[in-house]
Amino acid sequence: MCSACPALRLSRAFWLGEPGRLPVLAVIFFFFGLSASAQHFNGAKALDYTREFVSIGPRWPTSPNHVKAESFLREHLKHDQIEEDTFMANTPIGPVNMRNFIVRFPGKKDGVIVLATHYETNYWLKNLNFVGANDGGATTGLLLALADHFREQVARTKQLEGCSVWLVFFDGEEAIQSWSQSDSTYGSRHLAAKWGRDGTLQRIRAFILADMIGDKDLDIQHETNSTDWLVSTVRQAASKFGYAKYFFQRDEPVEDDHLAFVNRGVPSIDLIDLNYGPNNSYHHTAQDTLDKVSPRSLTIDGDVILETIRLVSQR
Ligand code: ZN
Repeated sequence: MCSACPALRLSRAFWLGEPGRLPVLAVIFFFFGLSASAQHFNGAKALDYTREFVSIGPRWPTSPNHVKAESFLREHLKHDQIEEDTFMANTPIGPVNMRNFIVRFPGKKDGVIVLATHYETNYWLKNLNFVGANDGGATTGLLLALADHFREQVARTKQLEGCSVWLVFFDGEEAIQSWSQSDSTYGSRHLAAKWGRDGTLQRIRAFILADMIGDKDLDIQHETNSTDWLVSTVRQAASKFGYAKYFFQRDEPVEDDHLAFVNRGVPSIDLIDLNYGPNNSYHHTAQDTLDKVSPRSLTIDGDVILETIRLVSQR
């Protein structure tokens, strides 16, 4: 027994029935309670980031708030390896400057796992007070809290235990006017093409997209364009925590930022819950507000994503 270990000393004192030691019981429960909760991702922190980000307001491309959203990401990720990937998108309203953010955390194993979200809101909803708390907001908060997790790990051990993890914050996922293959997913189409040209895609073991999964009523669908083995891996990760009921209860294809990667042969999954409010009535409306987002859902997302990253790294 380690004599320096206070928990063991205290428990020994408790079991020996020393007088005046009743509070020790509380201390022991505190210790065990703390270690149990420490195993879970901090969804409350992700919600804090979401709240802060969403308070900027609507952040459609070309708006002053979009510039504020960019500054917000830059400020929160200033201690990391951050790359700004700027490009000109050809849109129905003419050329629009857009900006993806890529944050890299190095790992001990070969290969990269990309974890992505989009961060902007819809240009065509600019006359509505659409803040996209769940659509773009919650997953931005989720990735920022995950960045905290990876940053702490790299500070301790220089490299992540498994593969490198790159976080990507896409611009221009939403249509400018009306959704089509040419008017949507500007940031992901640009980056997938660029990484195809320079060979980066060959290093990506898995591309994991998070979209609209802060919803209180979490119901992540089986997005049928996603890669089968990655769906199985996420299912396995969810089962580990007893979260299976939140995943893959219905099959539905979705066009999203993963498709540019799927189409280039990168194993990809879209973790999306496109069933938001009664009959999806909060989606792309002024109802998409912070009160619809839950820290519990973000904890579930974070736990499952971190376990998925661990499992993919072991493959
Ligand atoms: Zn959307």
